[in-house]
Amino acid sequence: MDFKDSIRVIPDFPQPGISFKDITTLLKDGEAYRAAIDELKALVAHLQIDVIAGPEARGFVIGAPLAYALGVGFVPIRKSGKLPYDTIEVGYDLEYGKDTLAVHTDAVKPGQNVLIADDLLATGGTIATSVSLVEQLGGNVVGAAFLIELTQLAGRNKLSGIEVHSLLTYE
Ligand code: AMP
Repeated sequence: MDFKDSIRVIPDFPQPGISFKDITTLLKDGEAYRAAIDELKALVAHLQIDVIAGPEARGFVIGAPLAYALGVGFVPIRKSGKLPYDTIEVGYDLEYGKDTLAVHTDAVKPGQNVLIADDLLATGGTIATSVSLVEQLGGNVVGAAFLIELTQLAGRNKLSGIEVHSLLTYE
């Protein structure tokens, strides 16, 4: 399936110069959504995965169904102040803006193999922060999976030593 046909590209959103990849058009198409998750599953099938961690909000719509398909757990990585139990937090820069991500202190057990999942790899800031959170908990990040990778931003360079898998690339 050519997933690019299912993704809407919006120029200059949320600010001038950003070419926003809108995956809502893929998500509302049941056949395309299922096929995307199935293909991501095939890309990471060789990895030993105990749990998938995904940053809010679009990391949930990719990571959770992938976890279900693989029969492993899902750990939400959230913006600061959203998680109810004890957390650790890390601040980071976005392609547009700054933010802080948090995870529950008991979300990952030391030694567990973790796959990080998100909709899109841009600068890699979000995923590098997610990796840092998981590693602070003693988790072993075995890979990262994305629907989309923006190759020009070279986000995968921030993830050295981690297998990066993406279904689609845009310059
Ligand atoms: P980054 O931390 O720069 O890798 O940014 C990744 C996060 O920001 C992902 O969770 C995306 O949801 C969002 N994002 C960044 N750039 C774009 C873009 N051009 N189109 C759509 N989403 C984006």
